[in-house]
Amino acid sequence: MSETMANILIIDDEVGMREGCRRALIPHQFSVQTAEHGVEGLHKLREGQFDLVLLDAMMPGISGLQLLERIHEVDPDVICVMITGYATVDLAAQAMKQGAFDFLPKPFTTDELLAVVRPALAERRRRQELRKQEAREKESLDLERTQQEVAKLDAIVSRFMLVIVHELRNPAGVIKNYLQLMRSGYLDADECNEYIERLDVRATQLLNMLDDLLELAQLKEIVSPVKLRPVAVADILEGVTRELRPVAEAKGLEFQVQVEAQPTMLAQPAHLRFLWTNLIDNAIRYTPSGQVRVTLAERDGQIISTVQDTGIGISTEELTRIFQEFYRSESAKAMVDVGTGLGLTIVDQIVKIYQGTILVDSVPGQGSVFTFTLPLATAGAAA
Ligand code: ADP
Repeated sequence: MSETMANILIIDDEVGMREGCRRALIPHQFSVQTAEHGVEGLHKLREGQFDLVLLDAMMPGISGLQLLERIHEVDPDVICVMITGYATVDLAAQAMKQGAFDFLPKPFTTDELLAVVRPALAERRRRQELRKQEAREKESLDLERTQQEVAKLDAIVSRFMLVIVHELRNPAGVIKNYLQLMRSGYLDADECNEYIERLDVRATQLLNMLDDLLELAQLKEIVSPVKLRPVAVADILEGVTRELRPVAEAKGLEFQVQVEAQPTMLAQPAHLRFLWTNLIDNAIRYTPSGQVRVTLAERDGQIISTVQDTGIGISTEELTRIFQEFYRSESAKAMVDVGTGLGLTIVDQIVKIYQGTILVDSVPGQGSVFTFTLPLATAGAAA
């Protein structure tokens, strides 16, 4: 705003005062509009952009003080100067307390008017500059946060590179040894078949690890809010349980699903699918007999889901490590030979990205309960 472009609104019930001010200000290159009373003034204020309001303190209808409040509701940054009569210095003081920038006692000369208007407009420019500065700071803070998020994920991925190479070498090395043994010619047909089976298991493990690693790498994309869309959460759970129920039942496990709410949240459907697939798949895998139970509810703007089993359970010591990449407990390894130890790492990352929480409650030999919450309104928060 340059001073020549400043827009001034005069609200005064006296036509003489309105016109006098207008005529005094126009030659100084201000754009001036007038209003006869508060209602008209507020209307004009809502319609246009004003830098300064000259406001009569004593008007019929809405009083100057009330009007002051309403004006600041419309535009908190507009500068108000009260025009007061001789007898209303107290009122002027009160007006200043309520946010008026200055006051001008009647009668006044053009010079006196300009001596109040000019600093008032300078204050307006200062406030606008401050707002711009705040907006710029907020923008750079947002950018910084996004960059930090990306850097954090980058760091995880790079740290992984080392661990990954080590972990992938393991099944790849075993596969190579088996192949060498088979080519050596010392194995009979039965032994060869057994080694082919083992090769298959190790190759599957290798592939699963690669799939999980790919999943983890793709989590970075959550930073782009473009990928988020409203997701009917219960539908995702329904899809996952439809796939896994036969697996549980084939093992002779009772499989229960209890859906209490039908919330919708902004998310990438694949993330929610991954959460439930992993937790339910683990519950089935690490439960030799009994039951797997899944619940979904909504409370205080959050999704709450539990995945409960009557399986091998997790010791207190193991509980601190199960979310670490590639970690598998000894009892888990003894029970299920092939696992990547990456599922819960990814689950944890997804929950964090949506600013949710995940808790595990477990008693070895009796079973585990995984409980996760996701706020419905984060919009993939990291985004
Ligand atoms: P994976 O299942 O491939 O080993 P995860 O990251 O999904 O990898 O799980 C890590 C470890 O956490 C498992 O190896 C197991 O020790 C433990 N775990 C996870 N879920 C359960 C569960 N429902 N019951 C018992 N142990 C579990």
